[in-house]
Amino acid sequence: MRALQRLDELYAIGGGPGANRPHGSAAEDEAHDLAAHWMREAGLAVERDSCGNLLGRSATGDDVWLGSHLDTVPQGGRFDGALGVVAAIEAVERAGAGAVVVFRGEEVGCVGSRELCAIGRDLPRAFLEAHVEQGPVLADAGAPLGVVPSIVGYARGELVFEGRAGHAGTTPMDGRDDALVAAAEAVLRIRDAARAIEGAVATVGQIEVEPGGSNVIPSRARISVDARAPDSERLDELVRAIGFEPAQRNAPAHLDEALRALLAAELTARGLPVVELPSGAGHDAGILAAAGVPSAMLFVRSLNGGVSHSPDELSSDEDVALAVDVLAGALERLAASA
Ligand SMILES: [Zn+2]
Repeated sequence: MRALQRLDELYAIGGGPGANRPHGSAAEDEAHDLAAHWMREAGLAVERDSCGNLLGRSATGDDVWLGSHLDTVPQGGRFDGALGVVAAIEAVERAGAGAVVVFRGEEVGCVGSRELCAIGRDLPRAFLEAHVEQGPVLADAGAPLGVVPSIVGYARGELVFEGRAGHAGTTPMDGRDDALVAAAEAVLRIRDAARAIEGAVATVGQIEVEPGGSNVIPSRARISVDARAPDSERLDELVRAIGFEPAQRNAPAHLDEALRALLAAELTARGLPVVELPSGAGHDAGILAAAGVPSAMLFVRSLNGGVSHSPDELSSDEDVALAVDVLAGALERLAASA
């Protein structure tokens, strides 16, 4: 299948191991150029907006957009982002309607879709994004595809703990002011805070200790905080429970009910089960939904235990083909309803 060959071609850009097309790199540009080439082959009129996003319009119904992103994390997987782009090109060509969009910099905070929505001009009537699930839910349910009702909101920031440096050998345990011990207690509190809220998760992924000597009591410790929850109320509650000031915050996004029903109808028409699963990761569809564009997401089953952001990321050829079928079917119905 052509879509699979194209996934291979994109995967080869930037060199291995894994997919290496970080935002702003020559590899991201090369991937955009290759997608533009495929779009022209499909008869689409290619343009780039002021944010660097790529758009390929068909002659009819170009206010319905399908797409995703082509940047990756370092040593990322073959399917994340790329699947949504190659499937969109196939679906738009097959339906003879709609437009394909490739957003810049999804992995660094969805900068391309965010800038587009901030400008607020020339937004689509509807947006559909196919994406690899990046988790085990669909595989566990025995479902090739899933419909996403909502995209998790997140708050990111840091906590800094100040203590007092001292000699590791000569300072008694009583009376120490150890910044790293305080940070370690906070890490456990953060875990417990997320556990206490249904659907919430929180992660400390970075820690920096000063002065950083093995025989010196830490005087300062900084930890990163990544907190996520399915709705604004629970995200607020989590941020309060952790007690940090988010430097970056993204509201949870609810995806469009009519578009979700449309995707579900396409699944049912093919005898596939309809599994709804919220997204624990941020996506461009969430940015467009927050900007008022009716948006929906189709998740494609992840194999290998749902691993993602890794060269081990895997979806089957059959599931990718089904995703193209469902997108094309949904697009035909949307174009007919315009
Ligand atoms: Zn992605």
